[in-house]
Amino acid sequence: MNENFCKVSQYGKEELIGAKHNIINSGFHTKGFFREIWQTIKSGKVWKGELKNKKKDGTFYWVDTMIIPMLDDQNKPVQYVSFRNDITEKKKIEEELEINEERFHVLNKFRNDGVAVVKEDGIIHYICSSYTKITNIDVAEVIHKSVLSLIHKEDQLFFKQQFENVLLNPLVPYRFQVRALHSDGIYYVHELIMTNFIDQAAVNGIVINFRDITEDQRSQQQLKQNSFYDTLTSLPNRLFFQSRLETMIRNAKKRNEGFNLAILNIDDFQHINDSFGYEVGNSILQEVAKRLSSCLDRNIFISRLAGDEFALIFNSCKASVHQIGQQVISLFKEPLNLAGRDEDFFTTVSLGLSNFPLHAQEKLSLLNFATNTMKVAKKMGKNQYLVYNDSIKMLDQRSFMIKNDLRKAIEMKQFELYFQPRINTYSKKVESFEALIRWLHPVLGFIPPNEFIPLAEQMGLIKAIGAWVFKEACEKMKLLMEETGKVYQVSINFSPFQLNNEKEATDCLDVAELLGIHPSLIEIEITESALIQNQDRVNKVIQQFREIGFSMSLDDFGKGYSSLNYLQQFRTDVLKMDRGLISSIVFDSDSRAIVQMVINLAHQLGMKVVGEGVEELEQYCLLKEMGCDQVQGYFFSKPLPYQEIQSYLQEEDFDKEDSVVNY
Ligand code: C2E
Ligand code: CA
Ligand code: CA
Repeated sequence: MNENFCKVSQYGKEELIGAKHNIINSGFHTKGFFREIWQTIKSGKVWKGELKNKKKDGTFYWVDTMIIPMLDDQNKPVQYVSFRNDITEKKKIEEELEINEERFHVLNKFRNDGVAVVKEDGIIHYICSSYTKITNIDVAEVIHKSVLSLIHKEDQLFFKQQFENVLLNPLVPYRFQVRALHSDGIYYVHELIMTNFIDQAAVNGIVINFRDITEDQRSQQQLKQNSFYDTLTSLPNRLFFQSRLETMIRNAKKRNEGFNLAILNIDDFQHINDSFGYEVGNSILQEVAKRLSSCLDRNIFISRLAGDEFALIFNSCKASVHQIGQQVISLFKEPLNLAGRDEDFFTTVSLGLSNFPLHAQEKLSLLNFATNTMKVAKKMGKNQYLVYNDSIKMLDQRSFMIKNDLRKAIEMKQFELYFQPRINTYSKKVESFEALIRWLHPVLGFIPPNEFIPLAEQMGLIKAIGAWVFKEACEKMKLLMEETGKVYQVSINFSPFQLNNEKEATDCLDVAELLGIHPSLIEIEITESALIQNQDRVNKVIQQFREIGFSMSLDDFGKGYSSLNYLQQFRTDVLKMDRGLISSIVFDSDSRAIVQMVINLAHQLGMKVVGEGVEELEQYCLLKEMGCDQVQGYFFSKPLPYQEIQSYLQEEDFDKEDSVVNY
């Protein structure tokens, strides 16, 4: 041995010479390991390897060893020379690395996140084993492939942009989300942190840390389910929608971009609910939600606002508003299959769209414009989309003005009552007048009651307007009777909303008594719609009116649903047959038969019958033949302002009598 051997092994020459080699045996290597060494060198070959030996003090050291056999004439080894190099330091590092590697391996196996190294061209050079745990895809399948091939098509452009940023900014971590492929062929949401370590010799690449956050997102959603998500469809709810709309507006303003808002409503949904029940209604809502969210681009924000109303928000640049409108409409060409039902269910939707910033720049207007446009799409025949435009704008401005000014109309004395005579079919004399409200708007001119009464009902103004009409009608009739010396009845239209109040009848009595008009001279006209809603309450109020002595009439019979059932269920004194029922009696024998039947039935129930909307002599004559008690319509007179009533009453004795008598 040389000096160095002594130094490394800590033994003196005198201790080593004559000793066996196993004096420095560490016990680390197996017997088999030594057997192999001996086999090699005994056969005359050189052995190379690393040996772990023990120093005198008991610590270990490693040597890189070469053992060379010295051969005799017969090529048999007689002596061995060993050269060794102390490699303890190197070995230590390696051992540590190995332990680390082992640890790393174990950790990786159980981790939900992983790491990959890709080169500048996006080719994966290394990917850790937890990748398989996360995606169930074998590491071997993806190594040396482009990382793009693992990312959802729609996210690839975005990924490339991020990748470019990373290339330009060494050592700056970029955090973002993409959809990554798993072995089941489904894309899951991964969060990536991508950092450029190209200049670090140890890495020489771009490191991507990745983590599957699909579950996180799901559980976050479940947490939020109650406040931000609709429980029936799992779509974002109105609250979520509103905050998203606000964010969209804020961002769009900052970035100078545009976006579209669509309000979607299922056609005839009320009808579906009424005829098939709420359960079917609910499954339809769920199916519609499913179809929207599975078929539309994932960047479209879809939410359910209320009932059968959904909202979509999408960027202007992605697709044109017409493309999306068209796409949504055509999504419902295929029937819906409802759980637990065999038959197909066809549904259509109507869609109204508005654009930021083109049509409006704030939340409420955007929403109103889209909603109103949707309503126009419905009026135009449903199953279509419509983008807000100038003519809708005009309609909007009109209804805005009407709503705005309706509140002040009573105060400003803009209402007036017109009176349309009701004529006794046999005596041909005017027996009563129907009071019909008129609104003369300072800018829009005359606004028909059919347009503003429903708005007044919505806005809760109908009671005030109704009270004004009642008082005004009584006052004018009182005046008319004083001026003519004759007795006339007046009929006054009541909205269903006026019949919810149990005090209504006595309130009306108070007004009539104050003006000195007997309740029997006042007729209250109600429509079927009043009867359908809140049946018990309404029936009670009707009976109160009758007990006090007011006369009640059922208006518009034959328009809408008209069930003969109501005639029996809600007793009124008078039945008014709608113009629609009367208009065809001249040329249609079926409608003649129906009118005859209605008249007979009403008479049997003790009701008087009025034919409305009589425009022609022939209609009058037929009604007279059929036993209709009173008639009303343009043939006799249009509704008249109060000042014209008297001159009409004077003329009626001549003109009308003539034509009627001539028949
Ligand atoms: P209504 O109660 O069925 O009133 C009859 C409507 O038919 C009136 O329309 C009248 O002008 C019109 N009319 C009468 N004869 C003829 C005819 O021969 N041919 C045609 N084509 N039409 C005729 P108006 O005054 O526009 O009223 C519309 C509706 O507005 C009324 O229908 C009633 O439902 C409601 N309304 C009117 N005034 C009041 C009111 O003071 N209070 C409430 N709650 N509703 C009212
Ligand atoms: Ca009426
Ligand atoms: Ca009517």
